[in-house]
Amino acid sequence: MIRIEGLTKRFGANTVLDGIDLIIQDGERVVIIGPSGTGKSTLLRTLNYLDRPDAGRITVGDVSVDAAKASRSDILALRRVTSMVFQNYGLFANKTALENIMEALVTVQKRPRDEAEAQARSILAETGLVDKADSYPASLSGGQQQRVGIGRAMAIGAELMLFDEPTSALDPEWVGEVLGLMRSVAERRQTMLIVTHEMRFAREIADRVIFMEGGHIVEQGAPDAIFDTPQDPRLKKFLRSVS
Ligand code: ATP
Ligand code: MG
Repeated sequence: MIRIEGLTKRFGANTVLDGIDLIIQDGERVVIIGPSGTGKSTLLRTLNYLDRPDAGRITVGDVSVDAAKASRSDILALRRVTSMVFQNYGLFANKTALENIMEALVTVQKRPRDEAEAQARSILAETGLVDKADSYPASLSGGQQQRVGIGRAMAIGAELMLFDEPTSALDPEWVGEVLGLMRSVAERRQTMLIVTHEMRFAREIADRVIFMEGGHIVEQGAPDAIFDTPQDPRLKKFLRSVS
C-alpha cells in the first residue's frame, strides 16, 4: 500500500502542494487530472524525491520517509520502490536503448552487469524493441523513445510507477503505441499513478480519477463518476475546457 500524508511543497511563497493525503492500494491505477500549474508534476516528483517535500510522510510498502528529516539512505530507499516516466522521456542521449534500461539496475539496484543486461533484454522484448537494443535515442521515434522510458521504469520492478504526461510530447501517430504499452503494464496489476491529458485513456485505465487544483485534491472517484457526474464547479469547468 502507498500512503501519502500531509505532503507539502513550497517554491518560495508559492505553496504548490498543500498537505496532500492519499492512499493507493496495491495494484490500483490512479489517474490525476487538473489544470496547468496545479501541482500534478510536483506531486509525482516529490514521491520520487526529484523535488524535496517540505513536510509530510511518504510510505511505499515497507519504506516510510518523513520529509522533514529524510536521510540520503531514505531517499535512495524511496527511489528503489518508485519509478518515473517523464514527458520528455528523460533518456541518456549517449547511451543505447539497452544501456538506458540497464542504467538503474546497475546504479540504483547494484545488480551485476550481466544480470542487468539479461533483464534489460527481456524488457526490450516486452516493449517490442529488440531490434533497437543498440540504437541511441536520437535515432528512435518519439514513440520508441518513450517505450524505452517505460521499459526503464518497468525494469526497476518498482512498487509504484509514476507517469507524468507520458504521451503529451509525442506526435499523434506515436500516442497509440505508448498507451498500448501502458495498458499491458496495467494488466499486470502494477500500481500506477498517472498524470495525463488523455481523458479517454484515463476513463479506460483508471480505477480512480483524482482532480487536483491549487495544490489540493478537489474531487476523486471512479472514472464514470468524475466524468459523467462531476460535483465540484472547478471540475465541471475543467472538463468543459478539455472536451
Ligand atoms: P502542467 O499541467 O502544466 O504540467 P502541473 O500541474 O504539473 O502543470 P507543476 O509543474 O507541478 O504543475 O507546477 C506547480 C506550480 O509550481 C507552478 O506554479 C510552477 O510554476 C511551480 N513550480 C514547479 N516547479 C518549480 C521550480 N522548480 N521552481 C519554482 N516553481 C516551480
Ligand atoms: Mg506537469
